[in-house]
Amino acid sequence: MAEHDSSVMWFRRDLRVRDNPALLAALDEGPVTGLFVVDPALWKGAGAARRAWLAANVLELAERIPLSLKYGDPREVVPRVAAGRRVHVAAETTPYGRRRDDAIGEEVELVATGSPYAVGPGRVVNGSGGPYQVFTAFARAWREHGWPEPAHTPRSPDMEPADSHQRALDLLHTAVEEAPFDLPGAGEEAAWRRWRTFRDGGLADYSTERDRPDHDGTSRLSPYLHLGVLHPRSLLADLDPSSTYATELAWREFYADVLWHQPRSAWTDLKPALEGMRYDEPGDAIEAWRTGTTGFPIVDAGMRQLRETGWMHNRVRMITASFLTKDLHVWWPLGARHFLDLLIDGDVASNNHGWQWVAGTGTDASPYFRVFNPVTQGIRFDPQGDYVRRWVPELDHLPGKAAHEPWKSDTGYEQDYPRRIVDHAEERQEALDRYQAARR
Ligand code: FAD
Repeated sequence: MAEHDSSVMWFRRDLRVRDNPALLAALDEGPVTGLFVVDPALWKGAGAARRAWLAANVLELAERIPLSLKYGDPREVVPRVAAGRRVHVAAETTPYGRRRDDAIGEEVELVATGSPYAVGPGRVVNGSGGPYQVFTAFARAWREHGWPEPAHTPRSPDMEPADSHQRALDLLHTAVEEAPFDLPGAGEEAAWRRWRTFRDGGLADYSTERDRPDHDGTSRLSPYLHLGVLHPRSLLADLDPSSTYATELAWREFYADVLWHQPRSAWTDLKPALEGMRYDEPGDAIEAWRTGTTGFPIVDAGMRQLRETGWMHNRVRMITASFLTKDLHVWWPLGARHFLDLLIDGDVASNNHGWQWVAGTGTDASPYFRVFNPVTQGIRFDPQGDYVRRWVPELDHLPGKAAHEPWKSDTGYEQDYPRRIVDHAEERQEALDRYQAARR
């Protein structure tokens, strides 16, 4: 093997210095060139909020350590920057990332240490060495498998001076300036502040509060976890592994594992059982769904929260996804695509398998016949109607839970809130009929 007096650390979904084993592996070899590549294939496909969130976190990292910011196809850029040196990375586990890394691995020596997960996808296996199909069994085995302690933080990392492309700098700065709304604070410090505040405040009540979109009862760490600004291993070190919060992190790991074993499940049904299912062509109804004008208050509140903040509460993600797939009979990838365009935590494994779980084509054990009733779900999880009134101003005159049923109030439509675009009871029956037909 050739002598390496310096190496490259190529950052992707690991935009942090703390608890970063790949960075430590690079530093062990000598001085390190830090690299981030703005990949046009990913950049062009992302909406303004996602670009802004990525850019803000990359620029924050570049404030902490010298980081060469480049623009172009990584297959060309990375070998050029490496110039014969080793390239350290955290393993990428999505289909696109794996293909890209395989191609680059032909050109340079790519050394993968760690991954964006506490337990790398593919490592938790059942007794016969295969993947787990259902979450509860996976989560049990995942806990038994365990994960390493957080890696130490390099005090003054020995980094080479940055040498950036002007194009990359311009794109990143412009993306931040053009953020369509206020984003959460970017960077490691902000992520850790958020975690500590939640750990010391919300964590104790998390198991009961997490289903309440009207309360600020969840950690809001998903955008940071998605870009690796914070690693789940760092959080698990602060947690009881049997806690509800650790279980939620296990869902993230489970979906990454499913995608690892079945990359095609990113955009096609994981389970073939509903292959014969009849779906509707997306028409005006999907536009009403996208814009939050379906006439179902909790659905509209969620879709507007998504448009206006780039994030949506988990319970409402399920309700809005159920509405698109079961009330409007639209195949789930169309909804998943829309979410991925707008979510700042948009993650192909969690998002697309979250969609499949709701649609009944994924890992859920009791799938298709569960059709969420958007009105009873709204009243149950937003009992005072606060969440609806916050996002749907046309309903802000309706007190308490009346905001969930404007059709019952004489004044329900006086602020031009749209009428319901479908009859839920009829569409529920239609969904069940199509399900029966597909199973036959
Ligand atoms: P918390 O409740 O504080 O949970 C802590 C962490 O656990 C989250 O940050 C996340 O990393 C993980 N987590 C929690 N619930 C889930 C879950 N059901 N699946 C996977 N991981 C979970 N999550 C994403 O990170 N990116 C997505 O693109 C995404 N799309 C989704 C689409 C649909 C249709 C559904 C039903 C869920 C989706 N989720 C997605 C999962 C979940 O909604 C978000 O992780 C959660 O709302 C993020 O908010 P939080 O950080 O406050 O969560």
